Amino acid sequence: MQPLKQYWVAEALEKALGDPGNPENIMSFPQVIDLDEREEFPHEIINWLYNWKLQHYYIPTECGGEFTCFDEFISFVRVLSRRDQTSAIAFTTMFWSYLTWMAGTEEQKRTLASFMKDANGAMCLAYSEKAHGSDLLASDVRAKKVPGGYIFNGEKWPINRATISGVTFVLAKTDEVGGARSLSLFMVEKSKIDPANYSHLPKIFTHGVRGSDMSGIRFQDCFIPESMRLGAEGAGLELALKGFQITRALCAAFSQGAADTALRTTLKFALGRQLYGKTVFDMPQPKRTLTDAFLNILICDCATIGVARGFNTMPEQISVWSAVVKYFVTTTLETVVQNVSVVLGSRFYMREEHDYGIFQKVLRDNSIISMFDGSTVVNLHALLLQLRQLTKSRIKNAGRNQDALPARLAATFDLTQPLPTFDGKKLELVNRGGDDVLQGLELALTSLQNLPADASLNADVLQQIITLTQMVQEELNHLDCQVTESTFQFGHEQAPEVFDLAKQYCVIHTAASCIYMWLYNRHHLGDFFAKGEWLALSLRQLMLTFRPAKALPGRIDDEAVAQELVRLYNDSRMFSIVPFQLAKPQQQETTTDATQRLQLQA
Ligand SMILES: Cc1cc2nc3c(=O)[nH]c(=O)nc-3n(C[C@H](O)[C@H](O)[C@H](O)COP(=O)(O)OP(=O)(O)OC[C@H]3O[C@@H](n4cnc5c(N)ncnc54)[C@H](O)[C@@H]3O)c2cc1C
Repeated sequence: MQPLKQYWVAEALEKALGDPGNPENIMSFPQVIDLDEREEFPHEIINWLYNWKLQHYYIPTECGGEFTCFDEFISFVRVLSRRDQTSAIAFTTMFWSYLTWMAGTEEQKRTLASFMKDANGAMCLAYSEKAHGSDLLASDVRAKKVPGGYIFNGEKWPINRATISGVTFVLAKTDEVGGARSLSLFMVEKSKIDPANYSHLPKIFTHGVRGSDMSGIRFQDCFIPESMRLGAEGAGLELALKGFQITRALCAAFSQGAADTALRTTLKFALGRQLYGKTVFDMPQPKRTLTDAFLNILICDCATIGVARGFNTMPEQISVWSAVVKYFVTTTLETVVQNVSVVLGSRFYMREEHDYGIFQKVLRDNSIISMFDGSTVVNLHALLLQLRQLTKSRIKNAGRNQDALPARLAATFDLTQPLPTFDGKKLELVNRGGDDVLQGLELALTSLQNLPADASLNADVLQQIITLTQMVQEELNHLDCQVTESTFQFGHEQAPEVFDLAKQYCVIHTAASCIYMWLYNRHHLGDFFAKGEWLALSLRQLMLTFRPAKALPGRIDDEAVAQELVRLYNDSRMFSIVPFQLAKPQQQETTTDATQRLQLQA
């Protein structure tokens, strides 16, 4: 059994779902492609997941469910998403329940938990409006106070699961002149309001996730009892933004599942297809593309797992961390999918030819992840507004906190450490105390330089990790200077150059996450992880954002990374720093044997 407990649910779910290549299995590639072609909501899959009781893992233990940590959550969302992002997204709208777990009364929590567990209930999030998009404060949906509740008027659109859901979290204007406190949030239970006063909007036909229930909801003089308001009147925007900190970070899991399938299905093709007397994988260029894709997945993994655990260990810093992964992970993995499509050749564009055409579906479905729950620019904007404060904190905290900081970093990045219970009340709208991940870089460098002699560690690899970590630190110092010198003011009209600073921040934060992940887990994530070639190559790749290749140390031999990729594929393991077990395909065993024979002959 997988030693890390946080992967048990993901492995059990994988086992129960079975080989996605077998048409007989639920959530198989043929089945999800068929649903997609017909643009049908995946009712049968969703029911299967309810029967499996996956919804319990969306409800915290203190509210009667099984949810304990986001670390566990992202691993099983990857399992869903590697098969079908439409179903994964449809089922995971249930995670909006976190708004209630954070701000609801005991009664509201009980109601929602029972709705999810006993009635197979789902919810949706109704924030967006046709006229206002990202500008939440401009909301036209009005909630006018009347005795015992509010009268709702207005329309929310486009909303995922607006029609096929029993609870709608609605952001509505309760005060015309209240500024940031003009919005309130409501947990609207449709079964308890008059159906004559609300209606659903028609299905929206989308580029990807075609089977989704993408629609909207319209209220017309609809009475909503006061008991359905979440938190205080006027607290809606604050609550909405804190809720986004959670869901934005978790979006990374959707992208990671999709990238896994894109790479796995392309690798299968590259290992099997013969050209010029060899396999495609044996040609250096495609091999490099696939190896780099694998490296990018590992890089993103470090960032995603870091922030997932950070919810429990450093919730007050999540306003920054979640923006980092929502931007960096989703856009990087979009590029990964695009890059590997080149290796798949013409088949990436075909709807049936290879693995039932799952690749083209992944390509379409995955392109929404970086956009919803706050687009790329909205996330970078949220981050850039905090840059000045982050720089100030880093300068103020330099050299302080020498004992507490490593302990906090270890709690976050050492995957064997138990996590404290997540306390949503500790989330902050903006980060005031600094970003531990960047604050700790100097300590990480010292740890690297003082690593005890280790026969299994190649001295050149270690030296490269150290050199590249020094460069990460130099780039951070440089970024600090640029932020200090910049003249940007708060507001929406930021210069593109400031967006670039925010992007660079994300790269440095991610690089630091990779370094800690290695330092804190060298002795328990297996040989490949421990040897660190992947880390040296990853840091080099990240530093290409800042410096030309010729200004970086030469690329070390990546054969070990390529071999590990094939090993994980042959063993049906997730492409991850924690390569947990996936369902074993019967067909693949034959292909694998053939592949090994081919490689021996070559
Ligand atoms: C498939 C799908 C599912 C969705 N699901 C939901 C859902 O469940 N619930 C929900 O409430 N909404 C949902 N949405 C809506 C989604 O969140 C909105 O599309 C999003 O808020 C952006 O709005 P918009 O597309 O109208 O763009 P706008 O916000 O109008 O943006 C227009 C342009 O301005 C730019 N821009 C915006 N803000 C800034 C800024 N601060 N700085 C610089 N540039 C900026 C944007 O990048 C873009 O180029 C969904 C959308 C889709 C496509």
